[in-house]
Amino acid sequence: MSDGVIRRLAIVLAFLAAVAAVAGGVWRYGYFQALDQLARQGASDLALASDRLTGQLQRYRELAVLVADHPQIGAVLAGEDVAAAEALFLEIADKTAAQDILLTNAEGLVMAGARGGTNGVDIGPLVQRAMQGALGWGNGETQSGARVFAYAAPVFDRNADVQGAIVVSADLASIEWDWVGSNPAVFFTDASDQVFITNRSEIVFWTRSDDAAGLVPPQGLALPFDSYWIGRHEVWQLGWGPYLPENALHITRQLPVIGMTGEALVDVAPARRLAALQAAALAGLCLAFGALLFLATERRRTLAQANALLEARVAERTAALSQTNAQLRQEAEEREEAQAALARAQADLVQAGKLSALGQMSAGLSHELNQPLMAIQNYAENAVAFLEREKPDRARDNLGRIADMARRMGRIIKNLRAFSRQESEPAVRVDLVAVLDSAVELLSPRIKRDEVTLIYDRPSANLWVRGGEVRLGQVFVNLMSNALDAMSESEMRELRLEIAQGDDVKVHFSDTGPGIDVPDKVFDPFYSTKEVGRAEGMGLGLSISYGIVQSFGGEIRGSNRERGALFTVELRRWADLAEAAE
Ligand code: ADP
Repeated sequence: MSDGVIRRLAIVLAFLAAVAAVAGGVWRYGYFQALDQLARQGASDLALASDRLTGQLQRYRELAVLVADHPQIGAVLAGEDVAAAEALFLEIADKTAAQDILLTNAEGLVMAGARGGTNGVDIGPLVQRAMQGALGWGNGETQSGARVFAYAAPVFDRNADVQGAIVVSADLASIEWDWVGSNPAVFFTDASDQVFITNRSEIVFWTRSDDAAGLVPPQGLALPFDSYWIGRHEVWQLGWGPYLPENALHITRQLPVIGMTGEALVDVAPARRLAALQAAALAGLCLAFGALLFLATERRRTLAQANALLEARVAERTAALSQTNAQLRQEAEEREEAQAALARAQADLVQAGKLSALGQMSAGLSHELNQPLMAIQNYAENAVAFLEREKPDRARDNLGRIADMARRMGRIIKNLRAFSRQESEPAVRVDLVAVLDSAVELLSPRIKRDEVTLIYDRPSANLWVRGGEVRLGQVFVNLMSNALDAMSESEMRELRLEIAQGDDVKVHFSDTGPGIDVPDKVFDPFYSTKEVGRAEGMGLGLSISYGIVQSFGGEIRGSNRERGALFTVELRRWADLAEAAE
């Protein structure tokens, strides 16, 4: 289990404990409150029951006083008319539902009785009290087991001396009859702590054991009992049968008029139920609130977790991207560096190619320059001879030829200088015809020497294209040199130059050589089929030409014709570019 889970479990347990504690407190408070109310209710119920009992017994007390005043009583005490008095007592007893009515003399001897005799009830103490002129009362049990409550009223003679006493006894069972089983359970204990009157017949004659709480049956084992206090309230825990509550509030009330103590046992179950209900409601509320809170925090925690995960991923991605970015930047730098190096290498190669071409051309050039030089020498010598012979016209003619030759040589040298110059300027407007002219002129000695027929329909007007004079010239010289090289062994030697004008300007160079061996490879650097060791066999000419034409935005292609090879240089018109820029 992770730390987080343990923490949350601890929080949940602590919350549950807190809810349990609060619910316990509410239960206790609610229970106390309910007990107070129950106690008030029980006290008034007990008061009612007590009043009812004393009220019912009151009748018999008054009956005793009334009968004591009856005129026949004196005669009976004098020993006369006992039968008539007994008949009267019986009649009164029947009418008032008294259990018995007795007349005793001053010694406590029964003189007359409605049903004859005391039936085992000890009326001695009552009569004694009556002999003192007061009202005597007490309770007892007849031989047949009936519970009776008796009053003894003094019988006075004319001199207000006590002659005897009238004892009226009431059967308590008949009084109880009305309220048996009513709630709450009520019982009255007499001076000897014995239950004498009650609305629960099962506890009649139970006695309080040694002045302690609780009651024990007269025979057999004591039934389960315990008692405790809740605040001001005494609660009895009973196992006394189905008609008595298991947990009961014990309420007492003294009844000095009949010498008894009234006690009530009020069931505390409703108070418990009410308190439990209140506690459960509060606990339910707390739990619902806690559950909501828990769910909300769980949701927030899950969201926070997801957020953290997302942020971590974003950070990870960002780091990866930054790394890739740095790598790309480095690669770009490296590429730029490589490109710069390539450009440098290309420039160097262009120069090398040019020098190589110059090498190739040197033989032809020296021949080309040597010839006019020899001619100049001859013309000069002739001019000197003509001047000596005083033929100035012929001498001028010769000098004019010398000037022509010198001009021609100057042009050749100019072309050579331009060719060998390094050019790295951007593409500019160039006259294609002029560039082609100078290339042809540069190679014309070799064309002548190799007995090659040049077929070239030279356009009369300028043809403006995008390029660089020197570099484009180098491309043309290279293509024509290759064609001348290819035709060196051929019987038919024909170099054809054609200019085709469409959207672009195309220059075709076709020869009558053997054709290209591997057309796909001719533009690869260092691809050459020429003899190794020969100055011209470097295999760089076409690859350099390719790069140059591309830098002008054009294209160069090589293919085979029916006879010989065809190279095409495609260049962009200058006018097109101006329009495109607009
Ligand atoms: P180099 O001329 O030094 O060999 P190039 O790059 O100029 O290098 O030419 C590469 C190769 O292309 C040549 O060696 C040759 O085989 C082939 N080639 C070029 N021009 C022609 C042509 N007109 N006819 C046949 N083959 C050619």
